[in-house]
Amino acid sequence: MRSLLVTGAAGFIGTNFVRYWREQHPDDTIVALDALTYAGVRENIDGLEGVTFVHADIGDSDTVARTLEAHTVDVIVNFAAESHNSLAVLDPARFFRTNVLGTQALCEAARRVGVSRFHHVSTCEVYGDLDLDTDEVFTEQSPYRPRTPYNASKAGGDHVVRAYRETWGVPVTITNCANNYGPFQFPEKVIPYFTTLALQDESLPMYASTENRREWIHAVDHCRAIDLVLDRGRIGETYHVGTGVERSIEEIADTVLGHLGKPASLKTIVPDRPGHDRRYVLDWSKIRREVGWEPSIAWGEGIAATIDWYVANPDWWRPLRDRAPVAEEAAWAGAGMGHG
Ligand code: NAD
Repeated sequence: MRSLLVTGAAGFIGTNFVRYWREQHPDDTIVALDALTYAGVRENIDGLEGVTFVHADIGDSDTVARTLEAHTVDVIVNFAAESHNSLAVLDPARFFRTNVLGTQALCEAARRVGVSRFHHVSTCEVYGDLDLDTDEVFTEQSPYRPRTPYNASKAGGDHVVRAYRETWGVPVTITNCANNYGPFQFPEKVIPYFTTLALQDESLPMYASTENRREWIHAVDHCRAIDLVLDRGRIGETYHVGTGVERSIEEIADTVLGHLGKPASLKTIVPDRPGHDRRYVLDWSKIRREVGWEPSIAWGEGIAATIDWYVANPDWWRPLRDRAPVAEEAAWAGAGMGHG
């Protein structure tokens, strides 16, 4: 029986992870720590057996250290982050505060108290972007070339985690994952954003570079990858979690509209976000080879179930729409922001 500290547990992937872990490892206990920013929804994990909620900031080392001791935590899984690229352009400081300094404070608490594993959840976006027509993919050896404040702050967090491994021997692992989709994703992100707009017969604002693509993975497949890395991953190593399934922004819009039986005329073009990355693709052969993970949820099946989840849960997403800090359609019009 293990005791886990899951940070960012009230966010999208954290929620999926806590629920996944309850099902797969019912004897373990979970401390779900979250600062409850606009993106955290405590109700997502309320009432789950074996889960204790702690309202705290990962940047508060003392509170985190006390929590680690009080619950004799063995394993930390760090999902806590500011995660919205658009918000990062408007308010970068909070991204560096949480994603770099917060990660450092969390590492510090882990170093002081001692844990058997510190797993850090990162992103494909630390490597920068790829040409739309290249065969190149990012490997675990690719240089970090972040282009946006969100990506740069996540890159900084990864460096911090490695420094705690090299300097103080904290037993870390890192996963860099492709774009996630699934239930409980805040409706500022493209799939729930398009879905909830289409459900209200509102137009879907697509960035002008509609051919920009992302590699997509269901959040539950991501959770399973972390589970396997905790079990079989080598300390100090980084593992990519990808699928090879790429879809452009326009294909996403068409899929959502097609599934909901809504007209293509709902698609509209808006100015690109500054610095909008074109494409990221991960080479995930290492995690398959070393850990035995591969994705299990096919895109067609996963996206249909995800859209259906938003159809079935308007009471979950309706109040969140008003909490979203960025109005995507208006954010980049004017405001003197050049395109990166
Ligand atoms: P999210 O924004 O939905 O959730 C983040 C959670 O962290 C929220 O509950 C928020 O309240 C909490 N949080 C923010 N600042 C905090 C702080 N200082 N202290 C404690 N809690 C804090 O994000 P997500 O999509 O679930 O992403 C989770 C992690 O996975 C992030 O580290 C993100 O970089 C990474 N990731 C996400 C994706 C993706 O496609 N969503 C892909 C790869 C990696």
